[in-house]
Amino acid sequence: MNCPYCESSQVMVVNSRKTSMGSQVWRRRRCNKCKLLFTTHENVNLTHLVVIKKDGIKERYSRSKLYSGVYSAAVSSRPRERRELVDKIVREAEKRILLLNRKEITSEEIGDMVLHSLKKLSPGVFLGYLTYHKNIEKTSQIKKEIKKYL
Ligand SMILES: [Zn+2]
Repeated sequence: MNCPYCESSQVMVVNSRKTSMGSQVWRRRRCNKCKLLFTTHENVNLTHLVVIKKDGIKERYSRSKLYSGVYSAAVSSRPRERRELVDKIVREAEKRILLLNRKEITSEEIGDMVLHSLKKLSPGVFLGYLTYHKNIEKTSQIKKEIKKYL
């Protein structure tokens, strides 16, 4: 980041804050050479987030992976509604992840965020994702898991 006035690279951050639910970072910077102040807005992305899977294996966060997981659970929805719903769920989950401000997260935690959003937005898809996410086969097990989200 260079100073927009004198192009010096001697720039320091004097203040920063998260905006729009944590999906953007606002930074106030000062140039050490010309002493002028300027503001930058950066979109935060999750490309450096590490996801720890149930088997302990770590991998880079992948939006498309999260998307396809929710998408396959929403199989009963009509195509247009399906895309809108999945977009919304993924956006909400990413906002929550950003607010946690962590370098690592478990796949379980992400799944729980998705489930909490789905519970409000689409109970049918909630059930589909619950069985997919928790790897559930028995009905009795589903009932037990649902109780956790009531
Ligand atoms: Zn400058």
